[in-house]
Amino acid sequence: MQTNPDYSASKKRASEILEEASIIQPPIITQKLCETYGIKVKFVIFTEDNISGMMDFKSNTIYVNDQEGYARNNFTIAHELGHYFLHKDYYLKHPNEYEILYRKPISSAQNSPIEKEANTFAAHLLVPKKFLDQYYEFASIQSLAKLFAVSEEVISYRLKNEYGF
Ligand SMILES: [Zn+2]
Repeated sequence: MQTNPDYSASKKRASEILEEASIIQPPIITQKLCETYGIKVKFVIFTEDNISGMMDFKSNTIYVNDQEGYARNNFTIAHELGHYFLHKDYYLKHPNEYEILYRKPISSAQNSPIEKEANTFAAHLLVPKKFLDQYYEFASIQSLAKLFAVSEEVISYRLKNEYGF
């Protein structure tokens, strides 16, 4: 297990995926991206209710909590896509190290390096700087959240991250 998250590699991979999939404007609909890459998405009811999602790398299937809202599900899928694009080979070799995604804040400090990378990938995949640049001066956090199909929390995190507020 690595000790430090590689944030720049996570951001780079997210922007490569956007380019590859020819996405030129928000919102980024992760279910469509999954179709493009042959990844199945299944909406399920977990027995523990604080689970947002998880991925099975052998069958390339992302399981998403059917009882959470659209914006949260979009982030959950983006997070698991982060694991798929950044960590799949690692997890296939070390399946015991995979962590289920629990419902907790994106900025949550107790995450492992690999979880931080998946969150960074997800945040930059869903709210790319090049798109945020076009809108952030003219739109409220609420309307940006709608436009990018993410929670207001994710928009606030991205604004702070890119512009310091
Ligand atoms: Zn994760």
